[in-house]
Amino acid sequence: MYIMEIIELRGCLEDELIEICRELGIKQFRGTQLFQWVQQKAVLTWDEIRNISKSDLQTLRSRMHLYSLKHVHEQRSKDGTRKYLFRLEDGEMIECVLMDYSRKSARDRHTVCVSTQVGCAVGCTFCATGLEGFRRNLSSAEIVGQVLDITHLVRQEDPDFQVTNIVFMGMGEPLLNYDHVLKAIKLLNHEQGQAIGMRRMTISTCGVVPRIIQLAKDNPQVGLAVSLHAAQDEIRNNLIPMNRRYPLALLMEACREYSRITHRRITFEVALTADNTRREEAAALARLLKGQLGHVNLIPVNPVEGTGMERPNSEKIMEFTQVLEDAGIAVSSREERGADINAACGQLRRLWEGD
Ligand code: SAH
Ligand code: SF4
Repeated sequence: MYIMEIIELRGCLEDELIEICRELGIKQFRGTQLFQWVQQKAVLTWDEIRNISKSDLQTLRSRMHLYSLKHVHEQRSKDGTRKYLFRLEDGEMIECVLMDYSRKSARDRHTVCVSTQVGCAVGCTFCATGLEGFRRNLSSAEIVGQVLDITHLVRQEDPDFQVTNIVFMGMGEPLLNYDHVLKAIKLLNHEQGQAIGMRRMTISTCGVVPRIIQLAKDNPQVGLAVSLHAAQDEIRNNLIPMNRRYPLALLMEACREYSRITHRRITFEVALTADNTRREEAAALARLLKGQLGHVNLIPVNPVEGTGMERPNSEKIMEFTQVLEDAGIAVSSREERGADINAACGQLRRLWEGD
């Protein structure tokens, strides 16, 4: 028996929708209209689509599935950060975060931090998502869906709301779900959709070396953040198990190649703990990054229960920063957002599931 494949509507580019309309004998410009309803106006159901006839919609519904994520829970921080917990169609839960949102400053940037996988196979020892293990990859429709559903929710109180920036820094390792992440980027960038500039999107990776090179070749516009956290293999092995497969020498070679191809600065993320925020570590980091196009972003670790990680005091952070700056390295400190709502990746889902 031939079973017709049901396509996820939110995962289709405009060209693909035009092609589906052609196959179904529907006027091709309906494909563009459908794309705009889904990707720009962020509708959650077929019933909200108004300028396409009922019979055409019926035909399209026989081939395509429009699934919006189920909004389970929302937390709002005093600083404007909002954290969302969504349930997927198969019951899995993911989190995403809207940063810097305030109605008063409507023209400011509104960044969404999206998840790319349910859980994560890398298993970093400081990360709530890593502690949970890997469940599955998200489809491109589910990745884009987080941005669309947040847009829909916020527009109910602020009709002009528009997401301006995306960071792939939620649950999961984006470069281990490469094809779906790249398609999600194309969808979010599309001028008939959210039209978010490539340069306003950043992928964060724990260091999947072959994919860093591939990304530089496939999409040199999108930003890259590398979660470094330590400048010595013995220490990094214990924080990020992936380091045993792709140790620092290979990772830094890939970063140099990435900068050579893209001419773009890499952001090196360094989570500071009470143990690693020392002069020696800062000096090792300065040596590792010498001559590399990029800058360092320092993040005080978000303590996750069961990891034993604690934050350093501010004196230690200042000392660490000073060593890097003296070595001529550009340093920024990630302003802490949403600390009162457990905005670190994977924390809300854990609380919600009660483990
Ligand atoms: N898997 C990718 C992207 C998701 S994690 C990566 O590892 O880069 C996004 C960022 O949050 C990474 O820099 C990660 O190291 C950091 N992170 C995870 N848990 C954290 C915690 N408890 N405190 C501070 N940063 C954390
Ligand atoms: Fe995965 Fe990133 Fe968490 Fe490491 S920090 S376990 S790579 S999500």
